[in-house]
Amino acid sequence: MKIICIGRNYADHAAEMNAEVPSAPVFFMKPDTALLKDDVFYFPGFTNEIHYECELVVKIDRVGKHIDPAFAHKYYSSVGLGIDFTARDLQSECKANGLPWEIAKAFDQSAVVSSQWIPITPETFDSLSFEFHQNGIRKQHGNPTLMLFNIDQIIAYISKFITLKTGDLIFTGTPAGVGPIAIGDELVGTLNGQEMYRITVK
Ligand code: MG
Repeated sequence: MKIICIGRNYADHAAEMNAEVPSAPVFFMKPDTALLKDDVFYFPGFTNEIHYECELVVKIDRVGKHIDPAFAHKYYSSVGLGIDFTARDLQSECKANGLPWEIAKAFDQSAVVSSQWIPITPETFDSLSFEFHQNGIRKQHGNPTLMLFNIDQIIAYISKFITLKTGDLIFTGTPAGVGPIAIGDELVGTLNGQEMYRITVK
C-alpha cells in the first residue's frame, strides 16, 4: 500500500504558501509506515514546526495504469478525511536548498486517515464538504469544487507514472488555513458534518 499526496491543489493554499498555481498536479508520497495507528500524535523531536493540512482522502479499489480520466471514477468508491502532517521548518530548508521533501512529509505518524469511509459516486463527490478544528476553533474548510485538479484528473495523471493498486490512498490537497500544532492540541476533522477523527497531540 502506498500513499500519494497532491500538493497545491487549492488556489487559496498555494497563495498562502507564496507558491505558483501548478499547470499539472504536483504529487509526492508517504510510505505505509507514515500512517498514524491510533488517535494520539506524539510531536517528534526532529522538528519545531509541524503544520496540519486537512485533506480529503480517496481510497483506490482497483489496479490501474494509464487510466483515462473518463474511466477514473471506476477506480474509487469511498472517501475519508485525513491530515497531511508537515514539518514546515524542514520543508522550508529543503525547498531553499532545492532538495526533495521526504523528511518533512514522509515521517512516521505523518498521515492521519479516518477509520470511517463515506461511499461516493462522481455525482456525490462534489457535494462533500469538510472542516478542520483545532481546540474547538475552525481553522480550515473546503469542498472538492475548489480543487484545481479533480479526483479523476489526479488519478489519470498519477497512473501515467505509477501503477495504482487496491488499497492505495490519495490525499487530494489542502485548502487555505494551514497552521502549526502544539502539544496538548485536540484536532478534529468533520466530513459532511460527521466527526471523522479526533487526534490529541502529546
Ligand atoms: Mg498536503
